[in-house]
Amino acid sequence: MNYNHLIQKVYTKIEAVAPQGEVASYIPELSKINPNKFGVHISTTQNFNFGLGDYQEKFSIQSVSKVISLCLAYKILGETIWKRVDVEPSGTKFNSLLQLEADNGIPRNPFINAGALVICDMLISNLENPEEDLLAFIANLSDHKVEFSLKIAASEKLTGYRNVALCNFIKSLGNIDNEPEVVLDFYFKLCSLEASCEELSQLFLFLANQGKTLHSNLEILTKSQTKRVNAIMQTCGFYDESGEFSFRVGIPGKSGVGGGIMAIHPGKYSIVTWSPKLNEKGNSYKGMRFLEDFTTLTEQSIF
Ligand code: GLN
Repeated sequence: MNYNHLIQKVYTKIEAVAPQGEVASYIPELSKINPNKFGVHISTTQNFNFGLGDYQEKFSIQSVSKVISLCLAYKILGETIWKRVDVEPSGTKFNSLLQLEADNGIPRNPFINAGALVICDMLISNLENPEEDLLAFIANLSDHKVEFSLKIAASEKLTGYRNVALCNFIKSLGNIDNEPEVVLDFYFKLCSLEASCEELSQLFLFLANQGKTLHSNLEILTKSQTKRVNAIMQTCGFYDESGEFSFRVGIPGKSGVGGGIMAIHPGKYSIVTWSPKLNEKGNSYKGMRFLEDFTTLTEQSIF
């Protein structure tokens, strides 16, 4: 498969499309980004790498980081994590409080904010230095170093009232062990991670490679765990637009309100797009368009 030719073709088409939607502004620091940024990078299990546009510029990965926190918790705690977080699509917005009460504080899945907060709580209880240990885990995934953005974390902390509400609510229902403030600080740091399309696609390549890193052959997750993480991305990676992404793109993926989308074709590649304007569901408008055209043109999807 001549991926660079195909990416070039789709990139040229989608670059010309006027991005619709809005840059996220509920986290004030995110609104400062140039809305016209557009980058894409693919990393394959055959060790082929190719990027176009702003693919080397770091951006705020936001909820794409929820895949990293899930993988780390899953690696440390194994199947016990599913007692505290479910694996069902929520069909609601990423920061919704709606279902929690009826579900007794068990979030529908680890990719909505409620679920990611519970995963953060697990990590805090099980890591000696949660922030450093998280960065050390990420450092194993590729040759790249990623860092938190203290500016973005502070900006979200100032305005993150909904996450404060979510965390306190789950605590009241008995599914947060640590102090909400500690959990929220770690969660905001997690969301503030910055990486480029190139770095992210290399970092997540293990999910296309049966759980092993390509550069060092290190087992991050078992084959079965990898299948499960990809399955949750397929069904829950885009909140109340997960069905739409599955329908249009046909591979698992995860979005973030910084405009990034990471998608995995198991056995083949990981691909990351970045375009900051979001549709009304909080997913990158151009990123979804790009990936839809890309999987259509390659005629490759998991279906
Ligand atoms: N930090 C963001 C929040 O909690 C992440 C949301 C997202 O990327 N969908 O609201």
